[in-house]
Amino acid sequence: MYRRVENRDDAMKNFYTIIEQLGEGTFGKVWRAVNKSTGEEFAIKSIDKSKLGQDEITNLQLEIDIISQVDHPNIVRTYEVFDEPRYLNFVMEIMSGGELFEKIVEKDHYSEKEAADTIRPVVEAIKYCHDMGIVHRDLKPENLLLSSADEGGILKITDFGLARFYDDDLMTTACGTPGYVAPEIIEARGYGLEVDYWSVGVILYIMLCGFPPFFEDNNEKLFDMIKRGQYEFTSPYWDDISSMAKDLISNLLQVNPRQRFNAEEVLRHPWMTGENTPRTNMPEVSMKIREFNTRRRFRKVGNAAVASVKLIHIAHEKHREEYANY
Ligand code: ADP
Ligand code: MG
Repeated sequence: MYRRVENRDDAMKNFYTIIEQLGEGTFGKVWRAVNKSTGEEFAIKSIDKSKLGQDEITNLQLEIDIISQVDHPNIVRTYEVFDEPRYLNFVMEIMSGGELFEKIVEKDHYSEKEAADTIRPVVEAIKYCHDMGIVHRDLKPENLLLSSADEGGILKITDFGLARFYDDDLMTTACGTPGYVAPEIIEARGYGLEVDYWSVGVILYIMLCGFPPFFEDNNEKLFDMIKRGQYEFTSPYWDDISSMAKDLISNLLQVNPRQRFNAEEVLRHPWMTGENTPRTNMPEVSMKIREFNTRRRFRKVGNAAVASVKLIHIAHEKHREEYANY
């Protein structure tokens, strides 16, 4: 439900009590909150509109349109939106399990089979979006959340801040997050839904070794490597990972979007269907993912450039030729 509250800055607070901060987004904070009449818990993302330009506000309107249409068990649900003069508040289902990567490292047993079972619902949710003509464009570990911290926690994708409706015209906006962005986005020659599967390839690669396939402090160098699809199954980390897993990743990290795997191809790949997917525990991988999480947390606080990536990308909507220069 969308409520526009022209002159009330406390409309949401009439219905919800804010408890504590759950997370920090690009444009605002995410809070744990309780519905005053039912006692039910929710997560509320509050965006301070006074910090945004007209382009970002238009983009938020699109985010509202999109999240009010998606309804899938593996997509974080948004129940209502309070559009107040200063803050835009999204009332969402609460994902008490937090970010996937923080939870993976707490598992006693983590194998390729578990990684496959984890990524499957993500692929299903993306397929659902694509079938509805929605492209997410910002798939990455931070946007994969668990509904609860226990074994029954369900993985869901969130953050439709860069999503848009896709008709058959190719998109040109350069956007995403540097390490996860598909080569055709960087090339700025027009791209389609396939960009989301490139990001799945990057996420899956990290899930099986604990470090990203493309990494460079300098974005220009990073983009160069992505454009050429220049990555490796680095020894010794990948030595014990199955060739099936490598085959799937190679088909996702396929520079040519027309040759890249789509949902059906991923879902019927033998590594995903599971009979021979290794169940061997991989404690070294868990340890590497833990290091990866620590580095990410550190960068979030320490590097404002990383946090403002979305802003820059939106600004680049009009100047995409200059993409390589930021
Ligand atoms: P942004 O669009 O600014 O990236 P997100 O929607 O991704 O914002 O939210 C930022 C962070 O807040 C997430 O990475 C996550 O840690 C936390 N968060 C977001 N939504 C929820 C939710 N529904 N339940 C619990 N935590 C959430
Ligand atoms: Mg996010």
